[in-house]
Amino acid sequence: MTSRTDIERRALAAFLGMAIGDALGATTEFMTPGEIRAKFGVHRKIAGGGWLRLKAGEVTDDTQMSLCIARAVLRCGGWNLRAVAEEFTAWLKGNPPDVGATCRRGIRDYILTGRLEAPFNEWDAGNGAVMRMAPVALLTLGDEAMLGRCALAQARLTHNHPLSDAACLTVGRMVQQAILGADRFALHALTRELTAAYPTFRFNTYSGNASAYVVDTLQTVFNYLFTTGEFEECLIGVVNQGGDADTTGAVAGMIAGAFYGLDALPPRWLKRLDPAVRTEIEETALHLAGMSPAGRAASAAEASGERRFEDSSEGSREA
Ligand SMILES: [Mg+2]
Repeated sequence: MTSRTDIERRALAAFLGMAIGDALGATTEFMTPGEIRAKFGVHRKIAGGGWLRLKAGEVTDDTQMSLCIARAVLRCGGWNLRAVAEEFTAWLKGNPPDVGATCRRGIRDYILTGRLEAPFNEWDAGNGAVMRMAPVALLTLGDEAMLGRCALAQARLTHNHPLSDAACLTVGRMVQQAILGADRFALHALTRELTAAYPTFRFNTYSGNASAYVVDTLQTVFNYLFTTGEFEECLIGVVNQGGDADTTGAVAGMIAGAFYGLDALPPRWLKRLDPAVRTEIEETALHLAGMSPAGRAASAAEASGERRFEDSSEGSREA
């Protein structure tokens, strides 16, 4: 079994990796690879700017909505979809600089009708639901059925489309298996399950299109995840592809963070991250992982191991 410390460190790396990808990619969002090359050579610094004119280290909706989910869970002591919708509402009312159109519509719909599931819409196959999977993967670690329920419930607050659903489930499973120590073959097997069910996600010949369409987003993430050998290299590849670079960065960051672990996150990127965001992520990631079925099992195993150790040492004293 994976130790509690291993779970906590990889869970933290997944959540921080997501925020790093968001902050790094925000600079090149909506740019083409050629425009990025002309302006930066290779973009490799968390420098802010971009079309949102961010401060260096500032994050966007990907991280903010993920933190909304995490706050709702921690406030309620467990999964509560209405609490998630309320956190999204509070966030939207704070006038964030960047809100995806589908997310805005879903949250406004909740405000007006209290409805917790957007109706099916053929245009809802954007990446706005998959980008917030990190807290869901952490909370449900060790229980695939719970992952399925929570992933789809949070997704359909705003996005109701089979391709978005499938992407959320696959990314959630990849993050979880990576936290539990899976190798890259096991992660690739999860992508093959996805492409067997939905061949449109195939990425063996990558088109280079990194748009907000969830198929383009996952193809970009998978292409760089499986053709690079480090967290840093993977993220630099993804964000230099431009397009929806903050979200491709966020999704790549959560999988690669879980896979390569905490020590693989470049200190210069961690240092740049908005300190308030970093602190909240550090606290919530550990809480979520500790609440998860796998986290609780690892803690229980550790406690019983300690008890056994104490029992046997007492026994030897008596002898
Ligand atoms: Mg964003």
